[in-house]
This record gives sequence, C-alpha cells and structure tokens, in this order.
Amino acid sequence: MQEKPTGAEIRQDFIDFFVEHGHTFVPSSSLVPGGDSTLLFTNAGMVQFKDVFLGTDKRPYTRAVNAQKCLRVSGKHNDLDQVGRDNTHHTFFEMLGNWSFGNYYKKEAITWAWQLLTEVWNLPKDRLWATYFKDELDEIPEDREAAEIWLAQPGFDPDHLLPFGRKENFWEMADTGPCGPDTEIHFDRGPEYCEKSDDPDHICQINGDCERFLEIWNNVFIQYNRLSETELVPLEKTHVDTGMGFERIVSILQDVPSNYKTDLFMPLIKRVQELTGHSDEVRETNLTPYRVIADHARATAFLIADGVVPGNIGRNYICRMLVRRAARFGMKLDLNEPFMAKVAKVVIDNYGDFYSELKRNEKAILDSLTREEEQFQKTVSAGLEQLDELLAGIKKKGDEILDGGATFELYATHGLPLEITQDIAEEQGLEVDSVGFSQAMEAHRLASGAGKGFGEMGSEDVEVYTKLTKELQDSGKLDTAGVTYTPYQAIKDSVEILVLIKNGKTTRTVEVGDTVEVLLPKTWFYVESGGQVSDTGQIVSADGKDWIIRVTEMRKPAASVIVHVGEVVQGQLEKGDLALVQVDMERRTKIMRNHTATHLLHAALHKVLGGHARQAGSLVAPDRLRFDFNHPEPMTREEILAVEAEVNHAILANYPLHIEEKPLQKAIDEGAMALFGEKYEAEVRTISIGDEERLSYELCGGTHVDETGDIGLFLITYEGSIASGVRRIEAVTGWRAYQLARERMNILHEVNHFLGTAPAETVQKIKNMEDSLHAAEKEIEKLRTQLVAGAFDEQLDEIEEIEGIPVLKMILLDADMDALRGMADKFRQKYETGVVVLASQQDAKPILIAALTEDLVQRGLHAGELVKKVSSIVGGGGGGRPTLAQAGGKDASKMSEALDQVAVYIRDNLK
Ligand code: ATP
Ligand code: MG
Repeated sequence: MQEKPTGAEIRQDFIDFFVEHGHTFVPSSSLVPGGDSTLLFTNAGMVQFKDVFLGTDKRPYTRAVNAQKCLRVSGKHNDLDQVGRDNTHHTFFEMLGNWSFGNYYKKEAITWAWQLLTEVWNLPKDRLWATYFKDELDEIPEDREAAEIWLAQPGFDPDHLLPFGRKENFWEMADTGPCGPDTEIHFDRGPEYCEKSDDPDHICQINGDCERFLEIWNNVFIQYNRLSETELVPLEKTHVDTGMGFERIVSILQDVPSNYKTDLFMPLIKRVQELTGHSDEVRETNLTPYRVIADHARATAFLIADGVVPGNIGRNYICRMLVRRAARFGMKLDLNEPFMAKVAKVVIDNYGDFYSELKRNEKAILDSLTREEEQFQKTVSAGLEQLDELLAGIKKKGDEILDGGATFELYATHGLPLEITQDIAEEQGLEVDSVGFSQAMEAHRLASGAGKGFGEMGSEDVEVYTKLTKELQDSGKLDTAGVTYTPYQAIKDSVEILVLIKNGKTTRTVEVGDTVEVLLPKTWFYVESGGQVSDTGQIVSADGKDWIIRVTEMRKPAASVIVHVGEVVQGQLEKGDLALVQVDMERRTKIMRNHTATHLLHAALHKVLGGHARQAGSLVAPDRLRFDFNHPEPMTREEILAVEAEVNHAILANYPLHIEEKPLQKAIDEGAMALFGEKYEAEVRTISIGDEERLSYELCGGTHVDETGDIGLFLITYEGSIASGVRRIEAVTGWRAYQLARERMNILHEVNHFLGTAPAETVQKIKNMEDSLHAAEKEIEKLRTQLVAGAFDEQLDEIEEIEGIPVLKMILLDADMDALRGMADKFRQKYETGVVVLASQQDAKPILIAALTEDLVQRGLHAGELVKKVSSIVGGGGGGRPTLAQAGGKDASKMSEALDQVAVYIRDNLK
C-alpha cells in the first residue's frame, strides 16, 4: 500500500499545484484582521482580499493561492458548540484557497479543482459530488455554465451533479456588495458514516446533515454587485474565491474517519494521553475532552503567536475563554496542574516550519498558557461550587435558565467564562441567558471606562469616494492606482485640487471659515498608521490667489483614497486651483524622533525583559510616545532604568537607519518583527537600526530620522498596567525630553538653594531634616504630656464638693485613654472617697472616663451609669465596672455641657 501523505505534504501539494498554474503564493494573514474593526477574527481565506473584491485595493498579482489561519468562535461564524462533538468542525482551522482577481473564471477553477482531486490526489471519481446554483425563486439565472463545465470533466458522474438554492449555493459577503453563485464539492465517505440511519426522517444525501457526505471545498464565482435586496448588476470583472477545509481533505487523503485522527491532531491527543496515563480504550471513551483540549491548544498557540494573549475583553477574552475551557475539560481527565503548555509545545513543533510565528513566539506562548491556567486554578473551585449551588437552586424552582447577570458575576468574581458555564449547565440539562451575559458585560465595560471595542464601519463614505475616484481615474486626472502617496519624500511642485467636499457634498468653491475635505492627485501628508499620527500642515495657493487651508486631519475613506480635512483660514478657492502641499515639518520631525525611539524601546524591552515583551499597541505623537507590550508584572525601577539607558546608548552611538523594501516572506525569514493586526502587502518596507549587528529590525511604514543621534535624548515618564498581562510605557524625546529634564533640574536647583546644599547632598540633607523633625515631634509630645499632667496635678489640689463628697471633673488637652486612666487612679489614691470624671479628645472625637471609690458604690453610685449619662450628651455611649468606666462620643464641642451632668447624676442617685 502507498504511504499516506502527511498533512504538511498535502498543504504543500495544494500550494504547488496552483503555483504551477501561475498563482502567487500569498502567506496567511494574521488571525487578527488588519485594518478591519468590524471583524473580531479572520474567519475565511477571503478576509485579506476583501478590499480587492470591493475594488478599493489592488495587488501586484491576479492569481493567488494561500493557506489561511481561520478562527470561528465569535460573531456570524461560531462553531464552538460543534467542536469536540463532531469530526469536522474546529475553532481554529486552515482554509486552502485559490483566487482569481479578474483573471480566470469558472472553467479553469472547476477544471483545476477536478484535476487536483482526481489526478494529483487520486480520489475515486465515483465518490465525488458537486452542487451548483439554481435559484428557488427563479429570479437570479441558474448557473448553467458551472453545471456544463462539471459535466465536461473526464470521468465525472452526471448523476453526481445537484442543483441547490440560495442558502447553499449563493454566496454574499454582506447585504450589499460583490456576490455570486458557488459550486461545492462533497466527498462520499460511505453509508457506514451516516450516524442518522435510525432516524426515519433522515434522507441520506448531499447537504443532508449527516457525516456520510462531507463538504470539502467551496468555489465562489463573484460576478454580481448587489445594490439592494432586489437589484443585482453584473460586475465588469469577475473573480474566483475558493475555500477548502484543510483538516477535512487531510482526513480523506489519510483515510481516517475523523479530522482528529489525522496527523494534524493525533500527536496532540497522544501528548494529552501521556499526561493522563490513559489506555487507548479509556481515551476513546473520553473523546470530547481529548478533542477539545487538542483543538483549543492549537487555537490558543496560534492566537498568542499573533499577539492575542488571554485577557478581559474582546479578542483577549476569547483567548482566555479557550485556555480556561481546555483547562476545565482537563479536569474531567484529572489533569489538575497546568498542562496546556505541554500540548502547545507539540503544536509549535508540528506547525512551526510552515507558521514560523509559532517558533518565534514559543516562550510567550508557553508562558502565557501556564500563567493563565495558574490564575484560573486560584478561583475555579470556588466558581464551580457557586455555579453548582446556582444550578441546584434553579432546578429546585423548576426553572431551566440561568440568569445572565449571575453568569457574568461568576466570570467577574471567579473567572468562569460564559462558555464554561454554558458547558456545565448543558451537562445538567439547563440553559444560560447568554444575551443577558453580554449585556451585563457591556454595562460593566462601559462603567469601567473600557469603552466599546468594535464600532461600525462607515460604508456610505466608501461609496461616495469610490464613485468619485472612479470618475477621476476615467478622466485621467487621478492615477489608476489612486492617490499617489509619498510620505517619505516632499512634493515640491504644484498639484490640482480635484475634489472639494463641504458638509458631505462636493462643491465648486469654498471660502474663509469653511470646513473642507480636499482630494489631490498626490500628497506627502502622512496618514495615521502603525500608531504614528497623521501629519498636519497647510495647502496653499500656487497661483497667487492667496488662499490657505489649514489641514488638521487626514482620512482614508477607502483603500488608495486619501483626503485632507481642514479649514479655509484665508481667501477663497475653487476646484481646479493649483496648490502647494506643505506638511508642518517641525511637528513631523518630533514625530520621527518618537517613532525611531519607539523601535529602539521595543528592542531594549526585548533585551532587558525577554522576547515575550512584544508590542501590543503604540502611539507615536509629536509630544510623546506610548508603547504597550506583553509582560506579566510591573517593571522594577532597575529594569526601567536599564531600558532607558539602552535606548540612550543607541542614540549616542548615532546608528544610521537602513530602510529597504523587500518581499514580506524574505523580511520575516530574516527575523524582522511584524505586528499583529497590521495588514502587510507582498512587498514590505523594513527599518533596521545598527551596524553589523542589527539592534532593531521591524516592518514599518512610518517616517523615521536618518540617524539615531537625531533623537537627542530619551526619557521614560511612565510605566503602568493597562490590562492583565499588558504594560504601558510613556516616554519623551528630543526637545521635549530636554525641557522635562530642565524643569526637573530647575526644581532641584530651587530646593538646593533653599536648603543651602549642593545637589549631591540634597537627599542626605532632607533625611537629616526629617530625623530632627521626628525628634522634635517626640519632644513636643513629651512636653505636652507633662503639661497635661501638671494641669491635672494642680486641679487635684483644688477640688469641689457635691453633697459633701469630693468631685473632680475636668477637660484635658490631648490625653489618651491610658493617660486619663492614670490620672483617675491618682485621684483615688489621694481621696478615700470621691468621684472623678475626665474628658479629652482623640482624633477630634471626645473620650471620657469616670471612676469612683468603693464606698460610693454602697451609696448608690455606679461609674458605668455615670459615664453613660455624661457621654449621651456628646452623642456617644460606653460603660464599665461600678468603680471605673469609659466612653467615647461624636461631638467634642459639647464636652463641657456633658460634664455638667456629673453633679446632676450625683444629686439624683446618692443615698
Ligand atoms: P459547514 O457547513 O461544514 O460548517 P461552511 O459552509 O461553514 O461549512 P465555508 O464557510 O464555505 O464552510 O468554508 C469553506 C470550507 O472550510 C468548508 O468547505 C469546510 O471544508 C471548511 N470549514 C468550515 N468551517 C470549518 C470548521 N469550523 N472547522 C474546520 N473546517 C471548516
Ligand atoms: Mg459552518
């Protein structure tokens, strides 16, 4: 028998086949979609090509092939429920695709698909089925073309071609936009695979929802643009977009009954089995936990490699949820110590050759997983216990749904993600109000100031500008590639004002005071990207008309469309006027210093803290830079100073910056740092700093200084936390750093002047002053006690009598309860019979003590009652023994009034 191909070979077969047919291999984009805030995760191969279909982006190739990392655990595509329970759905999976951007069409796509499946991979033709589009509403034409092409394939069984309607075979990206019919390829695994044969309603057929017929490949033919629900217009250019489930085709080619039995999953499952020590039989009876752990280990390793670490909201929440969910399934297998890093290590070893980001981030992946499991273990048992109680309560009441607020509380206080609570509730036949959970989470997020994570994309704008640019391109006023963008090189010659927009509408003229959007054929204003803020500056008249627009903002409403936003501050201008584009260079220079310093900071963090300290966010502004990075704990003072010193060393070494353009893959192979969430073109710009030994090497489109010495000086002004596992540094450079240092030195100068010391002695001098201050305070305290004691002693000799017995009542300054008690004792030593009531204040609140001699107890007096009566006036209470009692109060202003009660009490009670 022929040796079974490995998963890696199958992936390469697919790529090679299409490269041989003129396709360019395009590496997978990140799981975090670049520049698309509407989508949490990349969930299909087409995500990185979306703008190409929309016509707002162009690529240097018209045929492409890729293997795309996908994640389907959120939003419209959420397969989490099926994961581990069926054989064919994962959270993370790879989608293989071939693409035509206005190049080939149905004939080539179907023919190549058939050739690859039947000639390269030798799949039996009688097992393959195809579906094509036939509108059940009869509004959109039937895709006869695809059907005919299928029937022409050598050896294709005509009975294996089936028409289906809109749900199965018409693909739309959104309510409007590019769309078209598709053809799906299914593989018949054999009647023994049908798990529904006992169900009398089940019809075993394509799209019949059982495991016999497996959908492996979807070929979409984009040929229409949907304008509205009823309006469909043919596109000028037609495209091909295909997606093949990699794990599914591997299961077929390796002839195993489940994706989990392929070499893509088995090594992970075996690793878990080593940890549990189970026999194969026991493993097979615990299918779901094994599969979930293997699945989630892949998903989390790939997520962390793309910079998505476990955290509280958005993408980070999903990563946290997956780690914790795997850990909970681990508990079912008695894995109660962190184990995910051990499984993820196998993921890194098995996938790292193709996805080098796994290898590059190995330490970060393993550390984050273990840290997250440890954190979860601290709270999980309390959480599970509380959940059990909640579920028991619900059952008792005869309810079936766990409240969303309570579910959120379990997450907020015990770290139990919704999805785990759902698993457990489901295991007990109950449900969870997940909408309520989301609402509670959102409310909490808004209350805690974290804001809304993911907004809507303004689609109207896209349309206005797409239409405008198309017209300008047709008339030749605008390059076919869109606005020429040269932020690295000043534009000195004059340019024509192509479009003026005021209040959302195009206009011919604008004048002083108008807010306006300006479209030019080219610009060198930098547009915010990679953390670097947009340039500001002016657009001024080039033909003596004397108008000026102050540009305050830059916008990119669609790919390759760049608009200047600003205000006319002088004169009047019209469309067609000639203009000069002037960037505020002083501001730009400050930004450049901060951007280069950001690269040096990133490198220094790696050197001082380690490779896990990767960029998680960045802001490069003229007045400061802000850099967020992954690191589990606060930086020590020494680490902060070491990082600052590293950067300043690099500044003083005055390294030149090398800026080069090269293919993305080459840059990555050379070790350039790429950032998650960024969309990279096939050809990328790289910035490297250093001489023979590279100090920093990053992919970056930003503007930079020529030599590091241009930065001048770098000072860290802040280090703190912004989310669990993410730290933030703020820093200043250049003139701003000088100003800051100067300000601080001025303060020191003033302090020294005041103290009469030299800077080197300042700290010692202040310490000495503090010591003498303490000594003086102690001395004052001693004197005050003496003073109080003296006043008491004086009073002790001059005493009043009430009903013939000696009574001393007195308010003392600043005496504590101990001092008062000492004085009361003194009184009782001096007088054989008598009553003493002393009051003072502690922390601005009254305190009281009352004492009397034994003989007076016989005569009806009680110190406890006395103190109660007195303290009631100052709003307090207290009590004690018959001869000694104490009390506190609230209102110190009434102390003297309170003491008047002493005489009243004695007269009323003395027998
Ligand atoms: P299904 O109906 O099986 O969920 P789908 O219609 O959601 O598939 P598409 O969106 O057309 O799938 O994606 C293209 C291909 O990706 C599918 O033909 C399938 O082979 C694969 N695929 C889809 N979802 C998953 C998943 N969760 N895990 C693994 N492969 C998947
Ligand atoms: Mg699906």
